[in-house]
Amino acid sequence: MANDPMLKFVTVPRDMPEKRAPDLRNQDFHEIYAEYADAKAREQASRCSQCGVPYCQTHCPLHNNIPDWLRLTAEGRLQEAYELSQATNTFPEICGRICPQDRLCEGNCVIEQSGHGTVTIGSVEKYITDTAWEQGWVKPVAPMADRAESVGIIGAGPGGLAAADVLRRAGVQVTVYDRYDRGGGLMTYGIPGFKLEKDVVMRRIDQLEQGGVEMKLDCNVGEDISFGAIRGKHDAVIIATGVYKSRELQGPGAGATGIVRAIDYLTASNRLSFGDTVPEIDSGELNASGKRVVVIGGGDTAMDCVRTAIRQGATSVKCLYRRDRANMPGSQREVNNAEEEGVIFEWLSAPKGFLGDPVTAVKVQQMRLGAPDATGRQSPEEIEGAVYDEPADLVIKALGFEAEDLPGLWDQPELAVTRWGTIKAEYTTGRTEMDSVYAVGDIVRGASLVVWAIRDGRDTAAAVLEDLSATAAMAAE
Ligand code: FAD
Ligand code: SF4
Ligand code: SF4
Repeated sequence: MANDPMLKFVTVPRDMPEKRAPDLRNQDFHEIYAEYADAKAREQASRCSQCGVPYCQTHCPLHNNIPDWLRLTAEGRLQEAYELSQATNTFPEICGRICPQDRLCEGNCVIEQSGHGTVTIGSVEKYITDTAWEQGWVKPVAPMADRAESVGIIGAGPGGLAAADVLRRAGVQVTVYDRYDRGGGLMTYGIPGFKLEKDVVMRRIDQLEQGGVEMKLDCNVGEDISFGAIRGKHDAVIIATGVYKSRELQGPGAGATGIVRAIDYLTASNRLSFGDTVPEIDSGELNASGKRVVVIGGGDTAMDCVRTAIRQGATSVKCLYRRDRANMPGSQREVNNAEEEGVIFEWLSAPKGFLGDPVTAVKVQQMRLGAPDATGRQSPEEIEGAVYDEPADLVIKALGFEAEDLPGLWDQPELAVTRWGTIKAEYTTGRTEMDSVYAVGDIVRGASLVVWAIRDGRDTAAAVLEDLSATAAMAAE
């Protein structure tokens, strides 16, 4: 035991990688956390108490073997740590950066519960895989043998790509169709570079392509090719299209110029980071530079919008949310980051209407929290007469996303959906009610997380392989 590198949580304090100073980081779109130095990663991994029942692992949607890769890191056996971490996760370095660890693995770490501060699992996971990339340990997928069957995947977000990875490793022919000009889904065009730099996503897509995954980009299924044609080309189809219908604002003036959707705003900013020409940025339509910006919403999308606006050079950025800080859906870590960068939060505030066209102000209704509803959550109630005008030149709506009407758009009435418009699919296999059609990620769960989309993609790929093998066995009889 004397030489055991682990269980150092009593003597070694928790230490996150260094964060860039707010007045430096708010000038650019680079990630805000530095990488651990090797000694620091080993030291932080050594804090793990190697629980017999690791709650971190239970609460990781991928059930990553966290205690083992922490031990291997502490012992300096980084390549083995990488092999183990990538065995359950298609994109460990991405999850290490953007999982809300405080709600998942780290929030359930026993040493956090005992008051010592959680093991910094996400930062170590990122360190392991970034090192693997630097050292050339990450190789293109190389199947033992090719199989004849082909699978078409609609959507190149984390759900679709995780499925592509597992299927291609098994030798299946995989084609991924996406309506955008780059793969990655919301990892590419939703999540800003200060949380996830774009080359981190692009190198993964290159790796998949080098392993034989065919990417058909600029291909909008339903417009450029029909769903039926894709079904006709492949032995199985996985729908991984995410959810993109923005929830809209109500109230007088809600249609004014200068009131924009979060997804359009973030996509434009991400395109600019790639060096693309973005007319809506040049014209000012989706550009916060020199403007008073009001963002409406309290989730992670709202946090990404406020922090993007700061970086674009807004003169002021305010976030309106109808509940209080304790009841917001977004991560507290991101709220803290936003506040450090100069964002002002107006809690218990809801838009009641908008003045001007182009917009000049938001009519803000002040709220209070009333009695808890059936879910135990306190509902916001208006405070009578408590309304004021908040000046604004750009208003960004970040109220969440819903599923598009896929059965209608694709003329597939037999594609069964739930009452929320998400596709009805079996929980662990992704099987839908259509033969050889599966669905994964947000289009099944509703707006969720990258790590859950990866989990769905991997589980569904396993079910597809099972079904393809069963079909092949029947054909051979
Ligand atoms: P998507 O990532 O949405 O990918 C779907 C793909 O399908 C897209 O590329 C789209 O172009 C394509 N597609 C759609 N329709 C068609 C069609 N008809 N034909 C062809 N292609 C089509 N999660 C986290 O874990 N951490 C975060 O920090 C985080 N931040 C977020 C910030 C923002 C602004 C947003 C919007 C979401 C964030 N999320 C975050 C959620 C996360 O990005 C999603 O849960 C995840 O990307 C869902 O993956 P997916 O594969 O299901 O769909
Ligand atoms: Fe934690 Fe996410 Fe990594 Fe799982 S994938 S260990 S939840 S950071
Ligand atoms: Fe280590 Fe924390 Fe997981 Fe226990 S819960 S194995 S201490 S990371």
